[in-house]
Amino acid sequence: MTEVDKHGSRPQNLGAFEREPEKQDEEKPKQGMIARYCSLIFGGTKSLLTGMKVTIFTFLNPKSTVTQQYPENKDTLEMKERFRGQVIMPHNEDGEHNCTACTLCEKACPNGSINVLPTKNIAGKKILGKYIYRLDTCTICALCVEACPFDAIRMGQDFELATLNKDSLELVLNKKEGRWKS
Ligand code: SF4
Ligand code: SF4
Repeated sequence: MTEVDKHGSRPQNLGAFEREPEKQDEEKPKQGMIARYCSLIFGGTKSLLTGMKVTIFTFLNPKSTVTQQYPENKDTLEMKERFRGQVIMPHNEDGEHNCTACTLCEKACPNGSINVLPTKNIAGKKILGKYIYRLDTCTICALCVEACPFDAIRMGQDFELATLNKDSLELVLNKKEGRWKS
């Protein structure tokens, strides 16, 4: 209860006992906000450093960089063994193709990107006439390569396949000379 002097008026200078609860009520939310603010800064900094961990490590260890500086390194660039480019038909040691025109790859292709056109040799034996491959519809799934029992086709390593001429994407693979390395 507030003290009243002998003249019946309220004292001007209130005691610390009465004002303390008001001060405490004001300071509590402030302290809470500061704590939350500090917590957010700490959490944000920790999250940033976690996200930048690889970047910082790579910056401090340049030799660990795996990014290829293409096209500057075009001449020395080596693709990984598992990379799949377009289908190619390599030559064997005798300079011949292993393909026997069995058409298993054609049957395995899910979207008709391969047409095997057989022919016959002088002895009447079936041999490969034309191996037509459509790069524009090929999805690089390699099912044809897996289906081939003679290791006659493979997925190449060439990745610069863009062209302005759609017709050039229909290829005859059984050729000694051509666009694709074999
Ligand atoms: S890689 Fe796939 S889509 Fe392309 S020719 Fe072979 S089977 Fe067909
Ligand atoms: S590439 Fe292989 S699967 Fe396809 S026709 Fe030739 S031998 Fe048969």
